Amino acid sequence: MMMRNASPRSPKNRIASLEHRRRRLLSIVLDTRPLIIGTVYTGYQRCGKPGCHCARGRGHPKTLLMYKAEGRQRCKVVRKADVQWVRAAGQRYREFRAAVRALRALGAKEVEALMGLAHSRAVYYT
Ligand SMILES: [Zn+2]
Repeated sequence: MMMRNASPRSPKNRIASLEHRRRRLLSIVLDTRPLIIGTVYTGYQRCGKPGCHCARGRGHPKTLLMYKAEGRQRCKVVRKADVQWVRAAGQRYREFRAAVRALRALGAKEVEALMGLAHSRAVYYT
């Protein structure tokens, strides 16, 4: 059997780099800071006060949180004092979702790399 040097694209190196990526993605998923399962966005609301400038425009900007509760879509205005942490917690949820998606895709790449390992070890009986 022939010995092979580990090239940058060898199956072992590919597996090591996929594992590195997996650890980075897991660190996002295993983060213990709170997250909000929902979507935070800026909406506009008219206050209804007579003579307010907003009556002519699209309204006052409001931070809104969309979330599901008991199977129903809900929308809540976020208080000014809470905007910063609610946005950060919403962002963490987006990152969590993206990491879970990436981990799922990584699984298929790992299987492919592991099969590459089998091919690199394969000997042919003739
Ligand atoms: Zn107004």
